Amino acid sequence: MAHYIMCPRLHQRAVSVNLVFALPFPFEGSWQRKTLRLSLLALNPRVKQSCSLVPTTVTKKVKKHWKRNEDRSCTSCTPLTNDFSDIKHTTLSERAALKEAARCLKCADAPCQKSCPTQLDIKSFITSIANRNYYGAAKAIFSDNPLGLTCGMVCPTSDLCVGGCNLAAVEEGPINIGGLQQFATEVFKRMGLRQIVPPGVAPLKHPNKRIALLGGGPASLSCATFLGRLGYRDVTVYERRPYLGGLSSAEIPQYRLPVEVVNFEVDLVKDLGVRFELNRALSAQDLTVRGLLDGGVDAVFLGIGLPQPKVDRVFEGLTEEHGFYTSKSFLPQVADGSKPGLCGCKQSAKLPTLHGNVIVLGAGDTAFDCATSALRCGARKVFVVFRKGNNNIRAVPEEVELAREERCEFIPFMAPREVIVRTGRIAAMEFYRTEQDETGNWVEDQDQITRLKANYIISAFGSGLYDADSK
Ligand SMILES: Cc1cc2nc3c(=O)[nH]c(=O)nc-3n(C[C@H](O)[C@H](O)[C@H](O)COP(=O)(O)OP(=O)(O)OC[C@H]3O[C@@H](n4cnc5c(N)ncnc54)[C@H](O)[C@@H]3O)c2cc1C
Ligand code: SF4
Repeated sequence: MAHYIMCPRLHQRAVSVNLVFALPFPFEGSWQRKTLRLSLLALNPRVKQSCSLVPTTVTKKVKKHWKRNEDRSCTSCTPLTNDFSDIKHTTLSERAALKEAARCLKCADAPCQKSCPTQLDIKSFITSIANRNYYGAAKAIFSDNPLGLTCGMVCPTSDLCVGGCNLAAVEEGPINIGGLQQFATEVFKRMGLRQIVPPGVAPLKHPNKRIALLGGGPASLSCATFLGRLGYRDVTVYERRPYLGGLSSAEIPQYRLPVEVVNFEVDLVKDLGVRFELNRALSAQDLTVRGLLDGGVDAVFLGIGLPQPKVDRVFEGLTEEHGFYTSKSFLPQVADGSKPGLCGCKQSAKLPTLHGNVIVLGAGDTAFDCATSALRCGARKVFVVFRKGNNNIRAVPEEVELAREERCEFIPFMAPREVIVRTGRIAAMEFYRTEQDETGNWVEDQDQITRLKANYIISAFGSGLYDADSK
């Protein structure tokens, strides 16, 4: 039968707030043994004999000196102006990468892999990382995806591989696959190795066929890499801009994808002997598909993306002088001003200067990049305004979260009605409230109108190919 003794503190006067317990004491024994146990218990933990009394007002004040997370009531937090340092949550140190790789189950029929558009052998490269074979991991990644580092940094993994990970339901959550990919490929980047044509590749019958790739973005860079690896020796990429990388250079911000990463991957393509001609465009005035084919080119690859912005009719006639940008005019200027060495124009390029309230229109990834970039260009407050509800935001959660953390405000159910311009500058914007009818269609309610004050408007309504010259 178990015996219980009471901790002697129970018999003391209740002057302290320490917890006291009834202790199980299962053995019959001498009083000395009981006393010994009690004195040992008194040692660990050593509890205070009196309570500490600190007024809440003092604690509130003191905690500000120790808090590491943002103070939500703060009105003048660290300004983000001109701060383009990495903000990705997924970036891993070596220690964290090894821990994360060890967590992976290396599933037999791995669902992560089935969701990868580049069909990366994910569990294989994670196994290599777990074995500290970082070169092997990077080799596996770059073999399937020539832009392996870019994708490790910005691929919307929560919708792809990570979204399928079998560990989704455990406390630590699914594996941070993007972070692991970034880690291994960054180690490889530091190794400074050059890409070579794989020695075992069977020689081509016609390695000197002339191939022209139009556009120097991710699509053409990947295509050129695979052509080079197959052994084609006459591959030329023609790019309209003075620099390569497409949207990775021109629009995805430096704090998510640094320009050195794009340059590193371009250099890997150059290693294969691919040639690049900058400031050359698919256009009636320069290169046409017919002209290239007639001029002796054997094959043409079109990788010019969707270069023109969709602009709503309410913005007709508005320019940057009024305070109006599209994502396609704003983000490249931010890139020019924040990506060192881009286009060799670092000295002259300046960030766009914003102030006051900025309205960003749209709910895709581009809109959220515009919002966080606007803060770095001096905006005091950024409102992301979109037609549908918070539950219909198209952007990946990672991007939305970054904007939320940087205190951008989200305003759903709004469709553009009119821009108010006073003395040549944008002063406000009016919106209709939208709602979903019984059949699921989104309709604008003409009776519900909201007006928001704004100094700048950036529209991010997607893009297309509208330029007849390059069609
Ligand atoms: C703001 C923003 C953020 C994004 N974020 C992500 C992300 O986080 N993750 C992700 O996976 N994807 C993201 N994307 C999408 C990704 O950037 C694109 O899917 C990718 O760049 C498409 O590659 P592409 O080569 O087809 O086209 P592009 O990148 O558009 O490249 C096309 C190239 O062709 C050139 N070009 C255009 N017209 C001509 C012409 N007439 N003649 C010659 N050259 C021409 C352009 O200058 C450009 O260099 C983002 C896109 C944007 C705009
Ligand atoms: S599904 Fe998750 S746990 Fe399984 S192999 Fe892929 S990353 Fe590892």
